[in-house]
Amino acid sequence: MIPHLLLTRIARLMNPKWNGQFSCFDLVAKTSERSRSVVQVRDIEIGGNDFVVMAGPCAVESESQLLETAIAVAEAGARILRGGAYKPRSSPYAFQGLGLEGLKILRKAREVTGLAIVTEVMSEEDVELIAEYADIMQVGTRSMENYALLEALGTCGRPVLLKRGMTATLEDLLRSAQVIAVAGNPQVILCERGIRTFETATRNTLDIAAVPVLKAVSHLPVIVDPSHAAGVRSLVPVLSRAAAVVGADGLIVEVHPCPEKAMSDGNQSLTFGEFSHMMRDLQPYLDLQQESRQLRPQLLAVGRAD
Ligand code: PEP
Ligand code: MN
Repeated sequence: MIPHLLLTRIARLMNPKWNGQFSCFDLVAKTSERSRSVVQVRDIEIGGNDFVVMAGPCAVESESQLLETAIAVAEAGARILRGGAYKPRSSPYAFQGLGLEGLKILRKAREVTGLAIVTEVMSEEDVELIAEYADIMQVGTRSMENYALLEALGTCGRPVLLKRGMTATLEDLLRSAQVIAVAGNPQVILCERGIRTFETATRNTLDIAAVPVLKAVSHLPVIVDPSHAAGVRSLVPVLSRAAAVVGADGLIVEVHPCPEKAMSDGNQSLTFGEFSHMMRDLQPYLDLQQESRQLRPQLLAVGRAD
């Protein structure tokens, strides 16, 4: 097993195509000096040795909905609470989020549970306000190329969770990460959340190969969103296990007290019971990943010598 992992790792580091393709994004590209960066969020390290799970509803709908969810996901092992207060919806008639009221509810949930908060920012005008409430600023798939927003996030003083655009290549994703870094904020977490393909059985296609490619070419942490990739809750646990095995640094997962009544993304939201089972079942896969993480320094040293 060890020689195989070693060879795979060396092959990744030596892929000449990737060097040419990604090295221009100098602030986010992996170099011999900078192979891995850790984003610190309160007492949590993303991109370090822990597998960090962010979980919560798609949207903040009410105080009771969010507090109940926060307590349940914390008990199951999540470290960060997700929940949209400003929602980018495809239809102008769909629920757009509670706005400032939602942010206040998120703050309360942090006080009650100690969980850190990740929430979406859609416009550069909202950056300052959301940064007062959020521990991580989420850039959604539809905003990945909103350069005014990305630049404003350069000076927000908070880490940024940058989701891959649904029709974006990895090069596009890294370009956007570079924009945030050039604007002054190197604390970027990349997120693979599925891309549009010709497949219609799932909402998007989880590009699982994106994780090892991004880990090979960039020093930034990489997490996976199995919920928006699948669009259906039954696939979320298996995609999460796949993410753990390919070396992701964590997950962002949708969980709701009563998914059938959710105001958005109910089909892909897990119940509390399903989430806690998923977390428990993830452990052997995380142990497997831990084994390969322990080999990393050695593998990187070999890669560098080449
Ligand atoms: C979300 O996290 O609820 C969301 C809208 O995600 P995405 O931007 O990946 O569609
Ligand atoms: Mn959602």
